Amino acid sequence: MKNKAVFLDRDGTLNWVHEKYYISNPDDLKLNEGVIEGLSLLRDCGFIFIVISNQSGIAKKLYSIADAENVNTFMCNLFLAEKIKIEEVYFCPHHPEFDGKCLCRKPDSLLVEKAISRFNIDASQSYFIGDAERDITAGKKAGLKGIKIQQNENIYPFCQKIVKGEL
Ligand SMILES: [Mg+2]
Ligand SMILES: [Zn+2]
Repeated sequence: MKNKAVFLDRDGTLNWVHEKYYISNPDDLKLNEGVIEGLSLLRDCGFIFIVISNQSGIAKKLYSIADAENVNTFMCNLFLAEKIKIEEVYFCPHHPEFDGKCLCRKPDSLLVEKAISRFNIDASQSYFIGDAERDITAGKKAGLKGIKIQQNENIYPFCQKIVKGEL
């Protein structure tokens, strides 16, 4: 039996950002409205969660891999306190103008495909929610349905539609 999953972008989807703003300190991480409610609903309907994030601030030397991991751990602990388990946070630390082209940066789908394989995910029953077109593209390349939101938009109504089979 394969898992159904909801893949999530981090910045601008799960947590609040402005344009071009990098979150490198847990103190700056604030979950967006509706995220806890939305993921709780999806969890209760049997979805597992994977986060896929571009963290080009690492390539730009604005912060380190350890900083990014620290923020991710902090975020996962916020979710765990609400009994929401993030299976894995995958991130691409690259940027083509700083350290060359890679296959892990969205809109490429390498990280999505890694997760599909590792967590035995049925892509045809799974979704990618993100606030950028490249999130949707990365998901679609791996066979997921895409849900494009506005930056920092409340995801709860989209989660309701997923569980009702409307998306
Ligand atoms: Mg985003
Ligand atoms: Zn990469």
